[in-house]
Formats: sequence, C-alpha cells, structure tokens
Amino acid sequence: MSAYAVGHKVPDSDSICSAIALSYLKNATGEDVKPARLGELSPETLFILEKFGFEQPELKMTFADTDGIYVVDHSDRIQGPDDIDDTTVLGIIDHHKLGDITTSTPLECWIRPVGCTNTIIKMMYDFHSVEIPKDIAGAMMCAILSDTVIFKSPTCTTADIKCVEALAEIAGIEDYKALGMEMFKVKSAVEGTPIRDLVLRDFKDFNMHGKTVGIGQLEVIDLAVFNEMKEDFLADMAALKEEGGRHSVMLLLTDIMKEGSEVLVVSDNDDLTDKAYGKTAVNGKVWIDGIMSRKKQVVPPLQDSLA
Ligand code: MG
Ligand code: MG
Ligand code: MG
Repeated sequence: MSAYAVGHKVPDSDSICSAIALSYLKNATGEDVKPARLGELSPETLFILEKFGFEQPELKMTFADTDGIYVVDHSDRIQGPDDIDDTTVLGIIDHHKLGDITTSTPLECWIRPVGCTNTIIKMMYDFHSVEIPKDIAGAMMCAILSDTVIFKSPTCTTADIKCVEALAEIAGIEDYKALGMEMFKVKSAVEGTPIRDLVLRDFKDFNMHGKTVGIGQLEVIDLAVFNEMKEDFLADMAALKEEGGRHSVMLLLTDIMKEGSEVLVVSDNDDLTDKAYGKTAVNGKVWIDGIMSRKKQVVPPLQDSLA
C-alpha cells in the first residue's frame, strides 16, 4: 500500500502539479506517496505534462484501500474524494479559504494565503533542503503562472513571483512569461469543444450555508471566442443546476487581457449578482470589471450574501 497526494475534483494544473511535486518531496524524505487525480485533465494540464515529460497521475476516485492521503489545493469536503472518511488525512497543503475537512488524528498542515499550492510546496522543499528536479520545477512554475494568471490575479503575492523566478532558473527557462502566454493560448482554444465540457472544465461546487453553488471559470485571451456560445452555456448551466439540486450555477468568462469577467448566472435568486456584487444580470449575463479570482473576489461576497 501507498499513500496518495490528491487535488480537487475537476483537477486543474495546480492540483495535478502539486500532487506530482509533493509526491517527489515525500519520497525524498522517506514516505511512500504517489500522485493521483480525481478526473480527466484539461488541455492546459496536458500541455504542461507533455512539455516536462510527465505521465498523467493515476486516476483514482477511492482511497479506503490506501495508507492515507495528502489533500492538496483544496480543503472543502465537497471538492475532494467521496470516501475521505474511510482513509487517513495525513496532511493538507492549500491556498484557499479553510474548508470543512477535519481529521481524527494529528496532521501536517501547510496553508498560506498565496496564489498557488505549488508556491507552498516550494517552501516545503526549502524547509526540507530537498533539491527540486528540473522537470518538476518546470511543472510547478507553470502551475503558478496558471493559478496567478501570469501574476495578474489579485491572489498573486510577492512569494509567488519570487517562486516562479527561482523555479524558472532551476528549469532553465528564460522567458517564463512567454511560456505562460503559450499556456493561455492552449486554454483559449475552445472551438469545437462540447458545451458541457467547457462549463465543467474548471468547475467547483461550494456548500454555502447549506446551499450548493457551482461556479465554473474559463480564462481566455479574448472573450470573442465565446460570442456564439453564451446562450448554450446558460441552457447547459440550467440543466446542471437541476441535475445537482444546486441553488445556483455561475460561469465566469474571464478576459485575462481586459482583466475582468463576464458572469453568466442561473439561480433560484433573481437578484443574486445584485446582492453579492452590486451588479444586475440582464438575461443571465453581467460584465464585472476587475473580477479575475473565483476564490478571492467571487466566492466570499456570494457566501456572505447567501447567509
Ligand atoms: Mg485548483
Ligand atoms: Mg490552486
Ligand atoms: Mg484558477
């Protein structure tokens, strides 16, 4: 048996790269830990794995038969493995609001208000004086560029920027911003992808005062790619709301160059965006300038407004 490092459902690049980077660190410090994933990977993550020569982590949905799990890039039960109660949570490494995962045994906990889990994992490598291999440094760096939207997100901290600079040096990458843009170009190639796949590409459920709220986000270089898709998005979000017994479903169409998001919304509350953000959605759509971060700008006011 082994222990596993596992990120959230609908895995993103941070969840996957942090599972890989943490497993290597744990192996180097004498623990048998393997990376796992709770779902299929996005084109962006596949691009990163291909670029630095990694296989996809094992697809693994249940962990009862393991030596325990390290939870990375989340601490909300709804986002993690369904059978989390049947295994031991050995640790949590995360950069989100503190969720509702609890343990019955002492655990290792690294939670910091930084832009990316991989920034925290770099701190862990430094703490243990373990050298980061070139390929792992490259993957970690890309995850930070993804989560911080190449430093544009309000979640980005000085620690994230310093970390990217150090990792770029280790990975031997001179122009890391160009690599970041290449990554976001891969992310922006949405044409021909089924609507449901796009809505769920970076989708998280939240339990907000007993109400399930699903929030997806698509970050692209130019929102024009979605011009013909918005009505289909809204129809699919309405279906998703019914299927999951959700109170609301939101989709953030984030323009990383204009630094704002068009918010699509389907909700039991007609005035959801008015109450949370002071903006009225017309036909389920509203542009909100400056909104780039789900965790920092979208979730907290929404959670408060639903109290
Ligand atoms: Mg994530
Ligand atoms: Mg993250
Ligand atoms: Mg993100």
